[in-house]
Amino acid sequence: MKLNNPLTLIEVAADLEISHGKLVRLGGSLAREIGKKKVLKAFGRGVEDPLWGTGNLTFRDWLMQYTNNEVVHKIFDAIIVGVLACRSWELPASQFFYYMTRLGSLADAGVAPRGNIQLIKGLVETVKKNGDAWLSSPVRRIKVKKGTARGITVVREGREIEVESRVVISDTGPRKTVELAGSDNFDPKYLREMRVRLRAGHAMLILVGSDRPVLPESAPFMLIVGTRRLVVGGELAILCPELAPPGKHLSYYCGYPLNSLVPMEEEWEKLQCRRDLEEHFPGIREHGEILRMEPHDVDSDFPGARAWPGFDMPPETPIRNLYNVGEGVRAPGWSGTNKTAQTAMEVADIVCRAS
Ligand SMILES: Cc1cc2nc3c(=O)[nH]c(=O)nc-3n(C[C@H](O)[C@H](O)[C@H](O)COP(=O)(O)OP(=O)(O)OC[C@H]3O[C@@H](n4cnc5c(N)ncnc54)[C@H](O)[C@@H]3O)c2cc1C
Repeated sequence: MKLNNPLTLIEVAADLEISHGKLVRLGGSLAREIGKKKVLKAFGRGVEDPLWGTGNLTFRDWLMQYTNNEVVHKIFDAIIVGVLACRSWELPASQFFYYMTRLGSLADAGVAPRGNIQLIKGLVETVKKNGDAWLSSPVRRIKVKKGTARGITVVREGREIEVESRVVISDTGPRKTVELAGSDNFDPKYLREMRVRLRAGHAMLILVGSDRPVLPESAPFMLIVGTRRLVVGGELAILCPELAPPGKHLSYYCGYPLNSLVPMEEEWEKLQCRRDLEEHFPGIREHGEILRMEPHDVDSDFPGARAWPGFDMPPETPIRNLYNVGEGVRAPGWSGTNKTAQTAMEVADIVCRAS
């Protein structure tokens, strides 16, 4: 199913027949009840004012106007947290509809053989043709003089080096950028906006090695609905055999806490994910093992998402010639790595136009 239209989603959800009696064929009545007009109106609101035109209505509140069917709610919650890294009871309805109208991220999807690091290595090679790229070289400071970014202090091979530049573009996330440039250099309005607006999302990444595939052949990549925490699962080695030793399989799962605003209690969340795995994928115990369970907390350096949609920051900062790129930066309708690339292209445009 292509997730390209909320009406399609509602129709599909409404048509589901769930055998254990939870949802027995609403027969499209939900979709009819909500009606094209209402969905399109909600769509319109999202498009007009994607950032704060929420009317304080979360997606769950919006859907609750039409149904309290638990299964339908769980389906939408799984879609929202799996793609947008916050829960349906947290995301403003307008953000969901706005995302659906753009769908930049879902237009196409892929898995990089041997991981996204390969994509970055390709980028580094390209950059090196016309310039240079230093890896494993942490930036200690972004140098700011009279409200303008002038360069960075970076550690390379154990030595601190000063690099002068006309523009500084940071992919460390807006909060870290402020830390590196010194919060005294930012006006209070920007810092206030960042405190109020910027909201990261969690993820618990789970990797499972097994002798045979864990997920059914008919659905090797799935959105999982109605569990405690697990929402996403996929047989990676089916797409990228080089990720597993010959004859072995590698599957991944993502679990999400129920509250995306506060740091997770790691051991508790791991336990919930483990219980989900045991209940829904008993094959793991017989033919495999959990190789890794990795919490990506909201307050960590590598959260599940750097920002919920609409809860991100503009690329420009109050410091001249200092820009942010990455998932924490505003690019309405995009999410994840696609959003990151999109913000980089936008900032490249801004810099080219300005120079
Ligand atoms: C478990 C999990 C599953 C995910 N699944 C998906 C998915 O299926 N699809 C998808 O599109 N997205 C997915 N994401 C999200 C994706 O990983 C992020 O969208 C993406 O990594 C964000 O990119 P970014 O460049 O903004 O930040 P990051 O990828 O975090 O990059 C920031 C970089 O800045 C570097 N850095 C930090 N401080 C300094 C410093 N002082 N000096 C120099 N460098 C520094 C860091 O080392 C890092 O390399 C997932 C994330 C997680 C955690």
